[in-house]
Amino acid sequence: LRLKQRMLDEKRREALRKLLDIKGNIRVFCRIRPYLHAEKRRTSEPISSKSEKIMVKLGGRKKDFEFDKTFPQESSQESVFVEVEPILKSAIDGYNVCILAYGQTGTGKTFTMDGTKERPGIIPRALEELFRLASLDNSSSLTFSMSMLEVYMGNLRDLLAPRSSIRTYESMTKCNLNIQTDAKGMVEIEGLSEVEILDYSRARWWYNKGKRVRSTSWTNVNEASSRSHCLTRITIFRRGGALEAKREISKLWMVDLGGSERLLKTGATGLTLDEGRAINLSLSALADVIAALKKKKRGHVPYRNSKLTQILKDSLGDGSKVLMLVHISPFEQDVCETICSLSFARRARAIESNKEVPME
Ligand code: ADP
Repeated sequence: LRLKQRMLDEKRREALRKLLDIKGNIRVFCRIRPYLHAEKRRTSEPISSKSEKIMVKLGGRKKDFEFDKTFPQESSQESVFVEVEPILKSAIDGYNVCILAYGQTGTGKTFTMDGTKERPGIIPRALEELFRLASLDNSSSLTFSMSMLEVYMGNLRDLLAPRSSIRTYESMTKCNLNIQTDAKGMVEIEGLSEVEILDYSRARWWYNKGKRVRSTSWTNVNEASSRSHCLTRITIFRRGGALEAKREISKLWMVDLGGSERLLKTGATGLTLDEGRAINLSLSALADVIAALKKKKRGHVPYRNSKLTQILKDSLGDGSKVLMLVHISPFEQDVCETICSLSFARRARAIESNKEVPME
């Protein structure tokens, strides 16, 4: 047990070193989903990983994709969180932080972000870690608040709203949340509930409440939750002295993005097709924003093209840190989708160093 602890400590130090090393503000990790109990493992695996590389076999050819970190199938939730932890420290230090889970439906985005009771994911672990960091802070002046919202077909839904009337799928369009940007470029979502979280157990209570609101309203809408984005925001405040008012120092966004699968493959029709289009539009808007932010001579950044990018505007650009976790399937039948996800992620990462990577 002590050896395991020592190895984790070493990994933590290494992750922190790497975070300090990054030149741009975006890091991209890739996680391969393991086979589940009922699933048959093939003798020849189409996807494999080695340190920072993902290798994909397709029709006798092999493609390599390089990332800041890769997580093979057997990776634990703990080993993923060790690599994410340093970015939480950055949030406490005043950077706006954005952690995004990207990938095809079923590849483990929710598992990574939320996890299970026995194997908690990034969000519950991050909540615990923030309170630990606050307790270590000499001045003990850090406080946190939480908001949760869902973006579905361009509509915003407040998951922590006090009234049940705006929690259902049907009433989403009636829920008026306005996205505003102030003179300093800070984003404000007018009307969005924000609850003060005083300790970890209360933070978990609110988080579970938001999750419940999200899942109960989707039960009749054929798994539509995979075609919506779920965003959890922690706002961090600091008070300078006993008599001073608290001031916001940063925001931490943890985002479980909608499934990135292409519409042709899913054979979608009707509402599913519209939902898929909305997701594809907002994900490509996200890709466009990241690309524009990384250009050497920065021009127009197209934030306004989707609600998702409007919301995240002040947490994607300068003075912020972005961590994208790309999720891929281990299955042969998903290889084309996997290559799309890997290409999307590689573009986001490669543009950082001004190396143009062609579209696949
Ligand atoms: P997504 O959010 O991308 O649609 P999920 O997180 O719902 O995918 O994952 C699909 C299924 O696979 C779930 O049953 C989940 O528990 C399981 N799963 C995903 N990733 C892992 C993992 N790393 N280890 C164990 N089970 C996983």
